[in-house]
Amino acid sequence: MRAIRRFNVRTALPEQLAPLSDLATNLRWSWHRRTREVFRDMDPSVWDAVHGDPVALLAGLSPQRLTALASDEAFVARVRSAAEGLSTYLTAPAWYDEFGEHEPAPKAIAYFSAEFGITHVLPQYSGGLGILAGDHLKSASDLGVPIVGVGLFYKEGYFTQQLSADGWQLESYPLLDPDGLPLTLLREADGTPVDIALALPEGRTLHARVWRAQVGRVPLLLLDSDVEANDGIRDLTSRLYGGGGDQRLQQEMLLGIGGVRALRAWSRLTGAAEPEVYHCNEGHAGFLSLERISELVTGQGLDFEQARRVVRASNVFTTHTPVPAGIDRFEADAVRAHFSGTAELAGVPVEKVLPIGAEDYEGGQPGIFNMAVMGLRMAQRSNGVSQLHGAVSRSMFGGLWPGFTADEVPITSITNGVHAPTWMDWRVIELGRKYLGQTDVREAIGWDRVGRVPRQELWALKRELRAQLVADVRDRVRASAKTRGASEAELGWVGDLLDPDVLTIGFARRVPTYKRLTLMLRDPERLAKLLLDPQRPVQLVIAGKSHPADETGKKLIQEMVQFTDDPRLRARIVFLPNYDMQMAQTLMPGVDVWLNNPLRPYEASGTSGMKAALNGALNLSILDGWWDEWFDGSNGWAIPSADPSRDTESQTMDPDRRDELEAAALYDLIESQVAARFYDVDADGVPQRWVEMVEHTLGVLGPKVLATRMVRDYTTRLYTPAAVAGHAAAADDFAVAKDLAAYVGAAEAAFPQLRIEHVEADGVSDAPSIGERLMVRAYVALGGLRAEQVLVQVVHGRASESDELLDVETAELYPVEDLGDGRTKFEGALTLGRSGAFGFSVRVLPRHPGLAGPAELGLVVNA
Ligand SMILES: *Cc1c(COP(=O)(O)O)cnc(C)c1O
Repeated sequence: MRAIRRFNVRTALPEQLAPLSDLATNLRWSWHRRTREVFRDMDPSVWDAVHGDPVALLAGLSPQRLTALASDEAFVARVRSAAEGLSTYLTAPAWYDEFGEHEPAPKAIAYFSAEFGITHVLPQYSGGLGILAGDHLKSASDLGVPIVGVGLFYKEGYFTQQLSADGWQLESYPLLDPDGLPLTLLREADGTPVDIALALPEGRTLHARVWRAQVGRVPLLLLDSDVEANDGIRDLTSRLYGGGGDQRLQQEMLLGIGGVRALRAWSRLTGAAEPEVYHCNEGHAGFLSLERISELVTGQGLDFEQARRVVRASNVFTTHTPVPAGIDRFEADAVRAHFSGTAELAGVPVEKVLPIGAEDYEGGQPGIFNMAVMGLRMAQRSNGVSQLHGAVSRSMFGGLWPGFTADEVPITSITNGVHAPTWMDWRVIELGRKYLGQTDVREAIGWDRVGRVPRQELWALKRELRAQLVADVRDRVRASAKTRGASEAELGWVGDLLDPDVLTIGFARRVPTYKRLTLMLRDPERLAKLLLDPQRPVQLVIAGKSHPADETGKKLIQEMVQFTDDPRLRARIVFLPNYDMQMAQTLMPGVDVWLNNPLRPYEASGTSGMKAALNGALNLSILDGWWDEWFDGSNGWAIPSADPSRDTESQTMDPDRRDELEAAALYDLIESQVAARFYDVDADGVPQRWVEMVEHTLGVLGPKVLATRMVRDYTTRLYTPAAVAGHAAAADDFAVAKDLAAYVGAAEAAFPQLRIEHVEADGVSDAPSIGERLMVRAYVALGGLRAEQVLVQVVHGRASESDELLDVETAELYPVEDLGDGRTKFEGALTLGRSGAFGFSVRVLPRHPGLAGPAELGLVVNA
């Protein structure tokens, strides 16, 4: 076979159309309809043929067409105005400018993620994690938050899903050519591509080039191993989460370590500020910490422990799943091999690396290196992605902070959000503009005025969106039926598929077991009755991809597809292959109800229901993730769940019985509540009580589910404190970091020796009442620490029957007397604040100005 060298010739645009080049490469077009319309109007049939891809469109237009457009004055004026619009967007003052005037806001924040879902044109995501990362960057751009994204470039992206005749998922991996994508190669000043090199075992070196995508104001750097210098490992980054064992590990080394190096090249070549904060979105990029330590050891003369303190101060870690299978774990031996010998990072001995990801806590597995554990250990600030998920994570990872209650585990939560301009149908946005006055869907402006939209008009729009979905479903099913072997003549039924006036329920997501794709099939006859009800029929649109290696997931899909193939039911229930962002953008606006029935509490947040809500759909969901937090009784429906972590009765329930109960509750709700309300229409055909719920949903959920809210929360609660802590650690030649490192060493040695020898309490009467003061004294042997190096606390609260403390508060005890022999007397008072059974206990904690909280080191001595 002849080795051919391929390259795409970039279209040379006539001068009048030159701004189209920037408009196509800045991905702002993906959430800016007017820019898309400029491209579409260049040639609507080519636009459709390239599936709405501006770069492909420009490449696909003939020189004659381009010349004709260049002499069309009206069109040239539109191009100019679109270019001015982009330039205004990129330079206008934004929220962060003002924020930064009052707060010590970081000049740059690095955001690392293994996936980014920005547009269907750049399919670098598999599901919610990637879409969230994309929405994070877009909203950071809207707000002017100076983020720079770091990821990998997967030339095969995530797979395309088709179905076989018998409903089995088939995967194909279309090759992406980066030269035909809105990407720019990062080059040295002399024009040669930037080369990121990484040492691998056995003296090998991995090389990568760096692509830049531009997401509004936010650059996104994507590392790509597909370069000639990589003999035998060019394909390392071909597939998202591709390969097993070492391939995955090496991908993650490239993401974390290579990613930091790419950032350095980026700053060196563009003059961009160096990041002050490093956000690790899920564990995959965790090795970034090791590279940062290595830099500090080799460049600043710190030792490993000192460097660790600097890195932790300025790292932020987000955990995204409580599902054990969703957490990235490697054999410790593989990690050892990749961080020793020729592959050792300068200043980072492998003996220091392994403990960082070790599951050396109760319930952990020896010999494993856990990337989430590494993320938590290497960041002073961590979070889950909804309040419930925060609580679940605190108990799930509690073993890392032994001696503390779950409440005290230092993992907070910031609930996910979605980027409204990406996910709202433009007609919904226009309707708001028409009636609500000043609105900006990216912001919490105007949502409370939604009642001003005439119900008739809102309802007419919902029908239009439903009809658009029905048309899209028919196209997709026709195409899919053909690939499954049907001939055109057999496809007459597709024209009768779904009905734009029937209550439409959507369900689309990845297909891990906990999401329970087939829960609705639990009682097939019951479901059939709902679908075929002569007065109040229901129709279901379902989609989802299974991970290629997950046979169980594929079986669930097959079961679903075979159900939808039933000629008796197929007009009312469809499975659409190849769920992706583009499908979601028609599906979510087109449904009346968004269904989500995960096994509580495994859905960390979920975001698809938020997108549906922004388009006036109602949620019907298990109280899990974001819905547990924001369901208010009248913005949708809660499917009752038998979660064993919540009620003791469910603890002994077998999973099958649980599915049965929850499915039955689902059918009941659809029949007695959802369909009943949907079909309860007035003389004008408007279901007033339904539309009322839609208004309530938009008014209440609209402002909450926005990704701008989420990014502001990250900025104020995590990024800015991390930047402040990072600066404090580094100031005066790293004085605080050095002092903290020494302190941690001393505290780790002292705490096992430290003893609370004796506790006294007095000052209250025999039958104390509220307002009396309790004096507490503790006699502590400090194990070698000084009195000011510890925090001594009384922990007090309501005493339960089983002698647990509830509604806990703390009060500090102060050193009052040095008793000699390393012993100190501490004393303090607390006021009895409530009636009933009262209990207290004394504990000793580490104290240092460089710590973010008393639980941070996982050290405590309880009396
Ligand atoms: C929003 C979205 C997701 C994530 O949705 P969940 O609610 O987390 O399941 C996944 N895939 C696509 C294509 C999406 O648009």
